[in-house]
Amino acid sequence: MVENGNIKCQLCGCEISKENSHIFKGATLCEDCHMEETHPVQTCDPKAVYSAKILDQEDKPSGKDTLDDQQKALYRFVTDKGKVTLQEICAELNLSPVRAQNQIAILRHLELVKGKKEGDKTYIVPF
Ligand SMILES: [Zn+2]
Repeated sequence: MVENGNIKCQLCGCEISKENSHIFKGATLCEDCHMEETHPVQTCDPKAVYSAKILDQEDKPSGKDTLDDQQKALYRFVTDKGKVTLQEICAELNLSPVRAQNQIAILRHLELVKGKKEGDKTYIVPF
């Protein structure tokens, strides 16, 4: 047992506390790296990251024009249905859960959709 201080993620080298560490194939990983290692590797979508970055710099996101087609379709799906689950989004748009969550995160960031907990389920609803 290491009692003092933090340990390092063996992949990215960031410092993590013991309780946030994950052991994967004998390596100590941080939350993020563990997620990446245990989920199918998604090709990074530079455009999504880029638009999210741009929007970070703006106080008021200028709306739906900056969305890509997939994000628009996702947004339309959410507004049409009123509330949807992640599974429904994956099925409707043929996305992997990781990809769908990324897209939802972007829409959340734009304040177009938000998560809503009902019982033990989380729905995505229009903002
Ligand atoms: Zn890491």
